[in-house]
Amino acid sequence: MAALDQVQIKKLTKRYGSERALGGVSLELTAGKMCALLGHNGAGKTTLLGILSTLVRQNDGVVSYRSNGNEVTGEAVRREIGMLAHASLCYGELTAHENLELVAGLYGVDGSKAALATLLDRVGLDAKARDRVARTYSRGMLQRLALARALLTRPSLLLLDEPFTGLDRDGALALGEQLGVLRDGGAIVVVVTHDLEAIADRTDHVAILRRGQLVFEDRGSYSYEKLKDLYHSHAN
Ligand code: ATP
Repeated sequence: MAALDQVQIKKLTKRYGSERALGGVSLELTAGKMCALLGHNGAGKTTLLGILSTLVRQNDGVVSYRSNGNEVTGEAVRREIGMLAHASLCYGELTAHENLELVAGLYGVDGSKAALATLLDRVGLDAKARDRVARTYSRGMLQRLALARALLTRPSLLLLDEPFTGLDRDGALALGEQLGVLRDGGAIVVVVTHDLEAIADRTDHVAILRRGQLVFEDRGSYSYEKLKDLYHSHAN
């Protein structure tokens, strides 16, 4: 398997009928870096993640995925992607373990009890909840299970749409820390969020979209106060 270490996004345009969701966005993502993609509702963040995941097709522009300087395409790209979208993609009638076992079987990755327990510890899913069917989970628990599902295949490109939704403050901060660990392990992490506190001091790259345009981009880590300032001056 070829871990992705670079994603180049060039002049991406996406229209839904007469609605322009992205108007020529260019961005470069690299291994071992966490990019926060910020912007108001409707700015185009989910659309951009959808295109990066290969599930949504752009009207114009190119996304190229690379591993050690070589272009990677098709199924080899999809195998490297872990995605946390708005829908949890988990089965309500199965327990956390059963949900993950199913995905492990589909992707041919380690689905042993020990491996799954380690993963569920990592995302902080309450041990007592693990053997209950997922439809009985709170929103935060479901979010943790969805995250475990996204991490199960050890993706080198992690696309997270509002990962902190439903988590309490401690849970959100703990997840922010986990994302930092994944980034330090060499993954390309892209986080769409409105929770600036959870990503404060953790990002390597901040990109702000406004009405489908990239209006701010900088490499670096920002404090919560600085992120709030940036957001207010650029997202509006
Ligand atoms: P939010 O923060 O609310 O999730 P977002 O920044 O993720 O917003 P998108 O969901 O990418 O924004 O939406 C960008 C624009 O594209 C919006 O104007 C939205 O109405 C439009 N749009 C998104 N998906 C579709 C679709 N499937 N059909 C039609 N229009 C869409």
